[in-house]
Amino acid sequence: MSPRPPPARRPEHALRVLVELTRALTEAQVGLETALRLVTDAGVALFACDHASVRVLDDRGEHLLSGARSGASAHAIPSSFRRGLGVAGWVIEHGDVARVDDIATDPRFVQVPGQGFDIGSLLCVPLFSSGGVIGCLSLTATVRGYFSADDEILGRLLANCAVPPLERARLQRLAITDALTGALRQNQLRPVLEGAMQAARAHGGTLSIVALDLDHFKRVNDDFGHLVGDEVLRVFARRVREQVRAEDIVVRRGGEEFVVVLPACDLDVAIAAAERIRGHLATVPMEVEGLSILQRVSAGVARWDGKESAASLERRADDALYAAKRAGRDRVVVADAA
Ligand code: GH3
Ligand code: MG
Ligand code: MG
Repeated sequence: MSPRPPPARRPEHALRVLVELTRALTEAQVGLETALRLVTDAGVALFACDHASVRVLDDRGEHLLSGARSGASAHAIPSSFRRGLGVAGWVIEHGDVARVDDIATDPRFVQVPGQGFDIGSLLCVPLFSSGGVIGCLSLTATVRGYFSADDEILGRLLANCAVPPLERARLQRLAITDALTGALRQNQLRPVLEGAMQAARAHGGTLSIVALDLDHFKRVNDDFGHLVGDEVLRVFARRVREQVRAEDIVVRRGGEEFVVVLPACDLDVAIAAAERIRGHLATVPMEVEGLSILQRVSAGVARWDGKESAASLERRADDALYAAKRAGRDRVVVADAA
């Protein structure tokens, strides 16, 4: 007789995790990130494994819309995704489960630098909606051969429980997301700002914003064409997201202008974030369509004074941004007091 599995791997535990997950996911107004995190938490609980991550894609199924992690390195959001690349890329491309007993011998596996956790084996399950594959759920263990054939079935069941509410949250997000850059649409700036102000008032905290405008972006269009310009905007937005915290919100205000809202963030932290964005762009060229393009940016940073309106905060950040332009571009300027 095979030994009785540990409590975390017994069927009654699995049922409890799945029932609890579906209950939590269907609760009113669960946003996309919360929903994704509930799914990865359930993944770690269900398999008693080291780490779970989930990725969902944009409307074209090409780019990452959002993601979450639980377990090891839970603070980092999954940023890496290329269709067809790595195990997650393979699963999304083929719409099939991948169970890898030993990542060292699987040619699909791609080591992500700075991942911060060890992987011996993994299970990656596609998330299907009526329109096709909308993302994937990955579970990893440090030991080899951790996931069984039965785990594949359990993984599919977890995905099936998660998809309807995840898809609802994903479609809601897509409706307010700029399709080119993945940033929020311009009409979301006011509600996001006012929400952050309300939260700051409730907790006695603050918030800051960074206004960004690409330097001489018109030249990219003029020199290389609009498609290259579009790709530069896309890479730009991705880099901005990589340089800020998961809770910071990137809004495309229009054209090549963006605003980052940094909730519960003081001025020095916001200045540091703006400097990271600027410095990275100024030193690491973008590889776009076989071209190497150094796209610089100017930034204006403003901290909410606790009283002023959203319009006033935006105006101050804008004034600082235009001061940065006048002073020669490729710099961060801090706004005057309200
Ligand atoms: P500055 O440093 O003063 O900001 O110069 P700039 O060239 O960045 O500013 P300007 O306002 O003169 O030009 C912005 C350009 O951005 C013009 C417009 O064609 C381009 N643009 C706006 N939206 C898009 C887009 O979605 N895709 C592409 N490819 N270009 C866009
Ligand atoms: Mg502009
Ligand atoms: Mg510009």
